[in-house]
Amino acid sequence: MRRRPLLWQLFPSYILVIILSITAVTWFIIYSSKQFFLTQNAKELEARAVILRERMTGLNFGSDTAFINDLCKRVGLESATRITVILPTGKVIGDTDEDPTKMENHANRPEVQEAVGGRIGVATRYSHTLYETMMYVAVPIIKDGQILGIVRTALPLTSIEHAFGSIYTKIIVGGFLIAILAMAVSFYISRRITLPLVKMKRAAGHFTRGDFTHHLPIGTTEEIGQLAETMNEMAKQLNEKIRTIINQRNEREAILDSMVEGVIAFDMTERVIGLNRAAAQMLGVEINQVTGRYLQESFRNANLQKFVARILEGGATQDEEIGIQDKANIILHLYGSPIHSENGQNLGAVIVLHDVTRLHQLETIRREFVANVSHELRTPITSIKGFIDTLRDGGIHSPEDTSRFLEIIARQTDRLNSIIENLLTLSELDQTERGNIGLELTELKGVLQNAIGACELKAAAKEIQIQIQCDDDLKANINAPLLEQAVINLIDNAIKYSETKSSIEISAKLDNATIAINVTDHGCGIEKLHLPRLFERFYRVDRARSRELGGTGLGLSIVKHIVSVHDGRVEVESTPGKGSTFSIFLPLSTLPFGS
Ligand code: ADP
Repeated sequence: MRRRPLLWQLFPSYILVIILSITAVTWFIIYSSKQFFLTQNAKELEARAVILRERMTGLNFGSDTAFINDLCKRVGLESATRITVILPTGKVIGDTDEDPTKMENHANRPEVQEAVGGRIGVATRYSHTLYETMMYVAVPIIKDGQILGIVRTALPLTSIEHAFGSIYTKIIVGGFLIAILAMAVSFYISRRITLPLVKMKRAAGHFTRGDFTHHLPIGTTEEIGQLAETMNEMAKQLNEKIRTIINQRNEREAILDSMVEGVIAFDMTERVIGLNRAAAQMLGVEINQVTGRYLQESFRNANLQKFVARILEGGATQDEEIGIQDKANIILHLYGSPIHSENGQNLGAVIVLHDVTRLHQLETIRREFVANVSHELRTPITSIKGFIDTLRDGGIHSPEDTSRFLEIIARQTDRLNSIIENLLTLSELDQTERGNIGLELTELKGVLQNAIGACELKAAAKEIQIQIQCDDDLKANINAPLLEQAVINLIDNAIKYSETKSSIEISAKLDNATIAINVTDHGCGIEKLHLPRLFERFYRVDRARSRELGGTGLGLSIVKHIVSVHDGRVEVESTPGKGSTFSIFLPLSTLPFGS
């Protein structure tokens, strides 16, 4: 139904009521006053007729007709009333205006018929004799219980109607003015009734826009005031409820977002109800782009889709590991369970995601490490076993061969020993917590000199010069034996991979809040492609050459570990054929104040 403003519903009703009541009142006034005048007129005519009757009672209606007619004319002219005297037969014997002999029989006139019956007859009708509307009152003249005749008095109503014409105009104009006044008043009242409602409607607009702090005006009308108060109270309660809901939602979101595990919930139609930041990150989606959308359009991962479908269909908890190919081969462990309502109805599924990529990587590293260790150990053991078997079988006769074989066995044993020692060092370093290695403020020059001393024999064997450049007072907060071991490993490599008679430079300096220890050689250098993996355990550029030189492939990974427990980092710059520079950077933060 079409809705209209209250003002335009109230105001027309008022106008209708006003028009109807004023018309009714006007009509009633006109009708009553007219009736009153007609009644008065009839009484007047009756009184005149009764007076005449008294005068005529003694007359003879058979012989005194001339007198009667004359009386009618005289009295009629004096009293401006038409007087007619009629016999019970209807014959007119006297009349004010006409010659009775020419007048027709009046027996059928209603007022005459009444009077013939002994009653007073009153009638109003158009007179064909006088050509105007007249009021007639007929009174019987009774003598000795016998009706002798009838006196009829009559007056034209034209004057009354004229008089009433001007009264009608006045009443109608008055009614019209009253109606206009009443309309103005009713418009004012309608506005007064509707204005508070209009104001309330405007104010309630704030509620629809979510502003529940706004207050509706109370006004002076009881009912509207109560309504406004009720709505204000309702808005207050709604505001509190919404705030509580928002707080609860924020708390829930904060908890979910602070979780390392991803959480994602679906309804029974596989539509995403919600997910936390961790889940969005793991699955590579934006929270607001997938919330409310279907699983198929949000996550293009067939395994995840099947997993969710299984939980929704089966209604039982499930777990599985899936790979996310498009996101750097992330592996996720999914744990999903159905969501039940209070009455046990299935509402959807919630899935908890764990990023197990790192675990998988560690597992792979561990497996590779075990394989590498076994391989590294097998080579010298096989070699030792081979030579021992040869010696035992008596296949060697010359003492030179025997001593050569024993030397090889001894070298392989040394190799085994150094591999195991290096592995032990690494394992110890693995167990050492960062910053928990007992740092001491130590002069670096001494540490570097000790490292050079340890490598002196090897350097001398290849006639390699080692130069050192370090301020005497340069101190670092270090674990001296560990750092010395790291520098020894770097110098040892520099000697191993340099030609005879070349040189090695070792320097230590404070640069930009960092202490940099550089070991530079002019040896074979390293191809760029090997640099990213150089510090991995058992990684070697040239496996055969490394073995030949007594390398274990663990030296640089030990360096990396030692530096990292000092909160530092190690880097390498190398040009194949020209040489390499290995740099250890120790942060100044490990230095005590004032050093
Ligand atoms: P290794 O015991 O084989 O020397 P490291 O871990 O010390 O093992 O070194 C790993 C590999 O890095 C070596 O096998 C070698 O190929 C390369 N490398 C290390 N230091 C140097 C260097 N100064 N010059 C050239 N290559 C080097």
